[in-house]
Amino acid sequence: MQTRPTANTTRQVADLLRSLNQAAVTTHVGPDGDAIGSAIALMYLLRSLGVKALFCHAEAMPSYLGWLVPSEPLEECPPGYDVLVVDTSRSDRIGAPHEEAVRLNLDHHEDNPLYGEYNLVDPDAAASAHIVAGLYTELGIALDKKTAEAIYTGIWADTGGFRFRNVSPETHELVANLLRAGVVPAEVYDRLNRTGTIEQLNIVGVSMANAEHYGEALISVVDEDDYERTRATELDSKDAIDRLRSVSGVEVVGHLRQVEEGTKASLRSERVNVGEIARALGGGGHKLAAGYTTRKAPQEAKEELLAALKDVVDLGSGTN
Ligand code: AMP
Ligand code: MN
Ligand code: MN
Repeated sequence: MQTRPTANTTRQVADLLRSLNQAAVTTHVGPDGDAIGSAIALMYLLRSLGVKALFCHAEAMPSYLGWLVPSEPLEECPPGYDVLVVDTSRSDRIGAPHEEAVRLNLDHHEDNPLYGEYNLVDPDAAASAHIVAGLYTELGIALDKKTAEAIYTGIWADTGGFRFRNVSPETHELVANLLRAGVVPAEVYDRLNRTGTIEQLNIVGVSMANAEHYGEALISVVDEDDYERTRATELDSKDAIDRLRSVSGVEVVGHLRQVEEGTKASLRSERVNVGEIARALGGGGHKLAAGYTTRKAPQEAKEELLAALKDVVDLGSGTN
């Protein structure tokens, strides 16, 4: 049996960063605010240390996060660059091809199998960006405004705008320092939330209209017809997940989106370990925010999810 590699300390990782010459920073597929925020903050940290650092990602940046990225990401990690991965629970979810092994795996997913040579993984951190902030402190490097905005975005994203159960006094203490470094929350909020399109608005509306109530579960399915009707994409529809959490008595929310391979699912809860459910269905994530992709078409995927939820929550009479 392979032994589980031991996680490293912030000090050990700070020493590693100081020893690098050139580094490629990357993050997970389907990047969110924490993925890009923590990657960019780590890239700036490396540059402050005199390391030649690049951000690499094969996919286009989501439009609401483009402002964080100072220059077009490289589509692959260049050979000879140390590969540093942030916010990525498994190595098969890394969003840029890389020849070199993963030198650093910096993350906060509790199911992270420590796939890097160095691993800085703290499941108690609300966001990977918080772990990057800890490296700034360890290395005694002051936060400038653009770094503080990147870290703030990561924390904002993974706490649902400071609403989720992962918010702690430490979260707000860090945010106080980010504001001292120049972050203006209203400015960041506008960049993140007032840059949408009518297509996104419409598919979010369709996602809400498609929601079905099964006792303590609420599931919304969007398929190709919905994309066609709204001229939106799967990614546009993902914004709906937090809007589906408003119904009283609901313990688990599922948003199922048709994709080429089958169906992509996002699960959210305030109490139920949806990470376990997502893992059972081939995905992963956090206890209260998780996801997976199944080969099943959307309606079958809904049945599969309901079957997985049957023993976990009360599905009522099975109809809405
Ligand atoms: P999402 O619903 O896509 O916002 O994802 C919520 C959480 O679940 C994130 O932490 C993701 O990293 C994780 N997650 C989503 N899809 C997958 C998947 N297919 N495999 C493993 N983890 C996933
Ligand atoms: Mn993420
Ligand atoms: Mn994260």
